[in-house]
Amino acid sequence: MTISGKTAVVTGSNSGIGLGVARELARAGANVVLNSFTDRDEDHAIAAEMAKEFGVDVRYIQADMSKAEECRALIEKAGACDILVNNAGIQHVAPIEQFPTEKWDAIIAINLSSAFHTTAAALPIMRAAGWGRVVNIASAHGLTASPYKSAYVAAKHGIVGMTKSVALETAEEPITCNAVCPGYVLTPLVEAQIPDTMEKYNMGRDEVIKKVMLERQPSREFATVEQLGGTVNFLCSDAAAQITGTTISVDGGWTAL
Ligand code: NAD
Repeated sequence: MTISGKTAVVTGSNSGIGLGVARELARAGANVVLNSFTDRDEDHAIAAEMAKEFGVDVRYIQADMSKAEECRALIEKAGACDILVNNAGIQHVAPIEQFPTEKWDAIIAINLSSAFHTTAAALPIMRAAGWGRVVNIASAHGLTASPYKSAYVAAKHGIVGMTKSVALETAEEPITCNAVCPGYVLTPLVEAQIPDTMEKYNMGRDEVIKKVMLERQPSREFATVEQLGGTVNFLCSDAAAQITGTTISVDGGWTAL
């Protein structure tokens, strides 16, 4: 079975990894629902361009993944949901005693609770269709920790745990649930940090990337959004039908250390 004609909902997909994953799903023939909390002309333009490029149906549905009812409404509005990629995520870095409560709440809501709500809403649709794939974009921080990222690490470990529970609840059905754990990925968000870091360390671009940013990534290479899209496509393939409740690291060796 191919994913051609299946409907994929990717949360947080107007940029970065979500957009890259959505593009690889569309390239493989899936119809795609893009999402973010904004409702700008450019969000809808991304959908129109992707539809034209890959010859599939692409819709953009605005929904704020920090709000339970909007998470569930996203799945309802999508109508179909054969593949659910829970990708929306934010970050905040601070020592725990200075970590703003509202940042903790937002990170837990967007990076963890949104996946609970979308998965709960999507499973009945997958069951009715007789097939489903849930892929949670976790992180190397779902398996290891770093200082000053308490909320992010808690949310990402949480989503790895939830992945296992959902896999067990669907184990006897043609539905799988897995987590992909990226290391450092060169998204616009990460790219934007490079100039400041170059200035701070008085280093050139390559030196900052290899010695500062990729210090924990043994390959000293960023993972790419295309590689993550390829990993998600693999998890949606027949070859992965017995892969459920596990994590796949795309981290250049980070978690082998
Ligand atoms: P990004 O900022 O480019 O993408 C985040 C996406 O989430 C955007 O589309 C944004 O609009 C969306 N989003 C944010 N708040 C939202 C909300 N309230 N409702 C709906 N959408 C919302 O960042 P990215 O690097 O592409 O991150 C995507 C995912 O990958 C995140 O879950 C992140 O934790 C994870 N991740 C990223 C890296 C990395 O190095 N870039 C590494 C490991 C894991």
